[in-house]
Amino acid sequence: MTLRTLILIPVAIIIACSSTGDRSELERRVDELVSQMTLEEKVAQMSGTTPLPAIYGQELWNVPGVERLGVPPFKVSDGPRGVGVHEGATAFPVGMARAASWNPNLERRVGEAMGRELRAIGGNVLLAPTINNLRHPSWGRSQDTYGEDVHLLSRMGVAFVQGVQEYVLANPKHYAANSIEDTRFVVDVKLDERTLREIYLAHFRAAVHEGGAASVMSAYNMVNGEFCGENEFLLRGILKGDWGFDGFVLSDFVLGTHPRSALNGLDLEMPLTLVFQTLLDDVRSGALPEEIVDDAVRRMVRKKLQHRLDESSPIDESVIASEEHLAVAQEAATAGSVLLRNESNALPLDMATLSRIAVVGSLADTVNIGDTGSNNVRPAFVVTPLQGIEDAVGDAITIDHIGTDVLDASDLELIETADAVVVVTGLTAEDEGELGLGAGDRLDLGLSTERVKLIQDAAEANDRTIVVLEGGSAITMGDWLPDIEALLMAWYPGQMGGHAIADLLFGDANPSGKLPITFPTGLDQLPPFDNVSRAVTYGYFHGYRYLDRNGSTPEFPFGFGMSYTSFSIDNLRASQTRASAGDVVRFSVDVTNTGPVTGAEVVQLYVTYPDSAVEHSERDLKGFTKVTLQPGATETVEIAVPVNDLAYYDVALSTWALEGLEHLVHVGTSSRDLPLSATLTVAAQSPVSVY
Ligand code: BGC
Repeated sequence: MTLRTLILIPVAIIIACSSTGDRSELERRVDELVSQMTLEEKVAQMSGTTPLPAIYGQELWNVPGVERLGVPPFKVSDGPRGVGVHEGATAFPVGMARAASWNPNLERRVGEAMGRELRAIGGNVLLAPTINNLRHPSWGRSQDTYGEDVHLLSRMGVAFVQGVQEYVLANPKHYAANSIEDTRFVVDVKLDERTLREIYLAHFRAAVHEGGAASVMSAYNMVNGEFCGENEFLLRGILKGDWGFDGFVLSDFVLGTHPRSALNGLDLEMPLTLVFQTLLDDVRSGALPEEIVDDAVRRMVRKKLQHRLDESSPIDESVIASEEHLAVAQEAATAGSVLLRNESNALPLDMATLSRIAVVGSLADTVNIGDTGSNNVRPAFVVTPLQGIEDAVGDAITIDHIGTDVLDASDLELIETADAVVVVTGLTAEDEGELGLGAGDRLDLGLSTERVKLIQDAAEANDRTIVVLEGGSAITMGDWLPDIEALLMAWYPGQMGGHAIADLLFGDANPSGKLPITFPTGLDQLPPFDNVSRAVTYGYFHGYRYLDRNGSTPEFPFGFGMSYTSFSIDNLRASQTRASAGDVVRFSVDVTNTGPVTGAEVVQLYVTYPDSAVEHSERDLKGFTKVTLQPGATETVEIAVPVNDLAYYDVALSTWALEGLEHLVHVGTSSRDLPLSATLTVAAQSPVSVY
């Protein structure tokens, strides 16, 4: 399709629609308003007005409306782990931690809470969620996103968008294939069309279609030779064309807008006018059709009206960091922590039998809630792991706090004589983060030599050593893992993290998180991560799909996480064994809590494609459900799989298609523990609608 056709199609649709007289009331009002605007007023709505020095201050970023017509401005804030612009807003766990909860209902409540807080300070657009597929855990912003799997990314992204949009507009970002930090402004990510659509775009499609996202942020990087902020194929071709997206696209900040951005489908330059300074002259000189400007403005006005941004319904500021929101933050931190090892049932710690524990490491009493980049939040307080533990034990147990990573003889003596040792360690904002504002990419996936030695020394001194790890992505364990009894991955758990960690350590809560990414044994198990070259190629396989294909055994597989109880999963059955396009097949299993305490299990369903003529992963996650059960209780859990989710992108025919095939469906509790299976025979069909 030529550039001209791509531009003219939307314009033609707009013109065609105007003549039908069959338009919704909303569209009629949008037209009416836009037709009353001067060219200057229209162009002014296409850029923010926040000067650069003010960008990370206390003010919401402004995008003008048209006051005389009652069209409100946009008032914008980051971001994925809380309302960044507002001092005192709730600091939630990072996206990766929330993904590890595998609980979209909870994620929806996190979204609602953030939306409510933004609305309370007069904001109306939240620059979140980050839903970039994590191709490699070295990405400096891994913590922002929901992991390495399209299905999990889709479920969490949709839930968050829907929650946020109860109050303000959401903004899934960064469209697309943005997952290297150090070269993010220049790198050209090359992908074949099937990889692009199935692996790097499908979750954006879900956020737009199912989530109803009002806006999308384009990425800094290039995709197949065009910057995402002026990528005609991504913006006009796929997003606004194939997916029929009727919201607006805004630029990633400052360097995300390019000379052909407006022409090619970027509607809003943020946070101020730089490239779009020429728009007015371009339209006057005929270099840019006014219809392009009209379309951009119409998209923004449409979302303002649809989400009633023009109606004032203020929310009281008392919702900010309210008890209810802090409780959601704590629940998310608890549900997202992943128990990775628990030898000899070292956890939970039993207060009744302990008299002294050592809490060790420089991170034990350090505020460590993530990157200092654009996702930064400024909560009024943060409960550190040490504070959480002290609060939980009160006077019942003596706590020896050893707040260093380099242990001397007296520290080791305290550790040696303690009843148990909790080492809090991991990564910080100095190890990983956003380019320019934080640390950038993380090329070594291990802990620093000092922190490894801390663990080893503690474990050598005391057999009952428990490690709490913080960090935003996969960490390789090295040879210290067998030396410790228990390992809890707490990520960057937000301002209530200390309470969540204490609850989990002492058994007031039962771990139920599952890894949203693979923890490899080393870099050699992963595709190469190149943060130097100006061009990189992304293949079809990464994460668990890459390891499965290569027969590699990870340290901890995607979907893995332990509990203080045990579960059995039996009796897999399906609503049908043969299916065609459009069907939704319901799989169910009976889950029983066979252990001593209440706990939650995530039942995961993966599909394999034996005998397929098309290249596929060994298995793909296609559904999951989290269920909480009392000891001894059994519940039947259902996972619905829309057959169209099994479609692949047929590049030759430029369409989605279902292969006529007997699929195998596997159900279990991680990507590498799938004891139950069934077959599902799917009838061939092409094309297939994936919406
Ligand atoms: C980041 C975005 C963020 C924006 C505003 C950009 O550099 O990539 O994620 O929303 O800044 O802070």
